Amino acid sequence: MAAGFGAKVVVIEEFRVGGTCVIRGCVPKKLYVYASRFSDLFDVAGSFGWQVDARFDWPTLVANKETEITRLEAAYVSALEAPGVDIIRDRAVVTGANSIKLIKSGQELEAEHILIATGGHPRVPDIPGAELGITSNEAFDLAALPHSILIEGGGYIAVEFATIFAGLGVNTTIIYRGDCLLRGFDMDMRRGLESGLQNRGIKLIYQTTIRSLERQGDDVSVAFSDGVTAPFGAVMFATGRVANVEGLGLETAGVEINDAGNITVDVYSQTTCPSIYAVGDVTGRAALTPVAIREGWYFAETVYNDNPLAVDHSMIPTAVFAEPELGVIGLTEQEAATHGDVDIYVSRFRPMMNTLSTRTDRMILKLITEPNGGKVLGCHILGPGAAEMIQLVAIPLSVQATKADFDRAMALHPSAAEEPGYIQVTKLLLPERHQGLAPIVPWQVGQGLLSPCQMDRGKRFGRTA
Ligand SMILES: Cc1cc2nc3c(=O)[nH]c(=O)nc-3n(C[C@H](O)[C@H](O)[C@H](O)COP(=O)(O)OP(=O)(O)OC[C@H]3O[C@@H](n4cnc5c(N)ncnc54)[C@H](O)[C@@H]3O)c2cc1C
Repeated sequence: MAAGFGAKVVVIEEFRVGGTCVIRGCVPKKLYVYASRFSDLFDVAGSFGWQVDARFDWPTLVANKETEITRLEAAYVSALEAPGVDIIRDRAVVTGANSIKLIKSGQELEAEHILIATGGHPRVPDIPGAELGITSNEAFDLAALPHSILIEGGGYIAVEFATIFAGLGVNTTIIYRGDCLLRGFDMDMRRGLESGLQNRGIKLIYQTTIRSLERQGDDVSVAFSDGVTAPFGAVMFATGRVANVEGLGLETAGVEINDAGNITVDVYSQTTCPSIYAVGDVTGRAALTPVAIREGWYFAETVYNDNPLAVDHSMIPTAVFAEPELGVIGLTEQEAATHGDVDIYVSRFRPMMNTLSTRTDRMILKLITEPNGGKVLGCHILGPGAAEMIQLVAIPLSVQATKADFDRAMALHPSAAEEPGYIQVTKLLLPERHQGLAPIVPWQVGQGLLSPCQMDRGKRFGRTA
């Protein structure tokens, strides 16, 4: 973008062009999620009359993934070179407000502006034997699939990799120090996803951590905080990510790092050193590729196109590519409870794909709106196609669509996405769930038990109610 606006641009990359997303994040992850979902399809295939004799070959997946990310990397290089960007393969360290040094070549460069987009890396717990564990960086290229895996963490990376490994036939366990996965997401979605993972045979161990790891033959022996010890074929840490700020020389230019370890920036991504800007994961605003891209684009508009633009971080659609899949945008029910009167609409049903089989998974759609057909404040979808749906929901939400707008749209039948057109009948009252008194009752998917919100159908929650 900056080169397109006429700037002379040099990109310095120490690893592979494309960054985490292309090389060891979103792209390979989604390819592996696709691979893992075949087992779900084979599961229901019989109910549609198919007999499938399937075998999985891990090296084929790894090799084909590598071919694809190499193709993408080349495409990114071409896209940079086309407008005249120079690419230098080296590690850069800031040496002043307008200067950097290249570590391999020793060369020094000066620039009017420096943009820091160094991303982050996986956090590995400081425990004995930690080097025996892997992170998402290594998980894509394991020499062989382990017979079992223990994944520590409760965020989306833990959940997605659990889905991948379980779908590929690995005996999978998640261990998490909290008491429910995906902190910060809507509670109904968290419970629904938890049930979905368990339906796929993923074991969940809560309120426990890993104390130490030790080699035990081909396995890794894990000592847990509750005193139990057990062997696993592999152990993966998905315990958060750390911004790449260490050893960057930021202090020499007066670039401030905040308490969370990220670079402090203003709304235009300018750091505390006026000639240095920072975008993406290293700023800790929202660690997602489209957000990093938008921040970079707006930096170029602001600095090189005389068009100051600030990224709006308030309505970001996001997905968890687990099984079941989760797509969300806007407020959760728990957050909405602090915003005055809101209406909550929930619909829960069996995806049509499963209706010929004995599978009991439920899809959940949830809308959070201002009262009486007002503005839609949040949308949460759990089930097949959730990510694709939520991306399109982001469009009406970006123009402040109301529940009445959603209701006015003609439904497309048969689809799961037609559901928001019908769910006005399930207006809910959930006050006891917001007072911090009553615990959330877990969804008991497929066992005929209703959640409290379904039982309170027809009433409305509001702070003033
Ligand atoms: C397993 C995984 C799955 C993910 N899935 C998704 C997803 O589904 N959707 C989504 O939106 N986001 C996803 N993300 C997050 C997404 O990858 C990041 O938000 C995004 O890549 C951030 O882009 P960035 O440019 O800030 O940093 P990065 O993509 O991390 O790029 C930083 C680059 O800087 C280079 N670098 C670092 N320091 C230096 C230095 N000193 N000198 C030279 N080069 C340096 C690095 O080698 C790297 O290439 C995922 C992340 C992971 C780890």
